[in-house]
Amino acid sequence: MQVNHRSRWLFATATAIALTVAILPGAAHASTTHASAATFIDPDEQYAAFLAEKKADGSWAGSADPGAKAKAPATDLAAYPKLTDQQLAAMRASATAAAPVGAAEPVTVQSVQVTPTGISVTTYDPAPGFTPERLADKLRAQGKTSVRVVRPAPTDGISAMAASDCAYGSARSWSCPVSFWRNQGWEDPYVRFNDHSGSSWPVSSVVPKWNTVKNIDSEYRWNSCPAVSGSRCVDVFSGNYGAGWTGLTTLFYASGSPGAFSNTGAKVQLNDYYDSVAIGGTRNNTTTHELGHALGLGHNTYSNDVMYYAINKREDLGGENPVLLASIYSVTR
Ligand SMILES: [Zn+2]
Repeated sequence: MQVNHRSRWLFATATAIALTVAILPGAAHASTTHASAATFIDPDEQYAAFLAEKKADGSWAGSADPGAKAKAPATDLAAYPKLTDQQLAAMRASATAAAPVGAAEPVTVQSVQVTPTGISVTTYDPAPGFTPERLADKLRAQGKTSVRVVRPAPTDGISAMAASDCAYGSARSWSCPVSFWRNQGWEDPYVRFNDHSGSSWPVSSVVPKWNTVKNIDSEYRWNSCPAVSGSRCVDVFSGNYGAGWTGLTTLFYASGSPGAFSNTGAKVQLNDYYDSVAIGGTRNNTTTHELGHALGLGHNTYSNDVMYYAINKREDLGGENPVLLASIYSVTR
């Protein structure tokens, strides 16, 4: 409940913002505080602090120690070339054979926040030990708004292997009707991931993995995302957010622009609370999953897919997620 009190202070006074930032582990001035492993960060407070403090180039003094990621290139097309049509077809064929569709329907836990300028949708991925309902109850107790558990109908109105904007095989889009990043003058939508997360989160190697998907371009940036016309920045954070979920993704829809993700308000938050391996997954799995959401994918129905709602050890993009993502962005919007 103390977290909720801090939330109210945060929006009340600039002093409170400074206090909140001061307790964030990894903040530039955190060494003067008593932050410890038991100090939890509310993800919304962290993001509010970022918005209040970030510089014009997208950098933030509160960013975690990146380790070697600070030197990662924006793209790595030599090691991660775009998938060809033939490769996509081969992935599709092998995925169809390997993936039993419908073994477990994907569940999504979301919080929806209506603001004066649009609607913000956050998807939380439940940690082991938390059913979606238990996680939803916890989020409500923390004061998150309009928390809902979304369970699609068994067939979801889509035949198992039908191709559409919303589904391909076991892959699902973030929403149906589909949501998407606009081209905004580029041949393909241009998404830059502005990484503020700690060294143990492999964002710099996950971004080029997703960039192999044709029709949408992803770039990696360490704590820097200067304005580029027609591009946008998706901010990626880590922190000790406490028990309940492994990662979250927030996407924002500006008023009057249904379906299109807004250039602002998109973020991913990766939870340091859990030892990913100890709970049956990997940090690469969680990072790949959340960045897949940020590009427009929803939960895969196959329980051993990287986009399945529960953490697992898969780190590849899966056989059908790239096909669906390339399909979503095969038209210019
Ligand atoms: Zn998810």
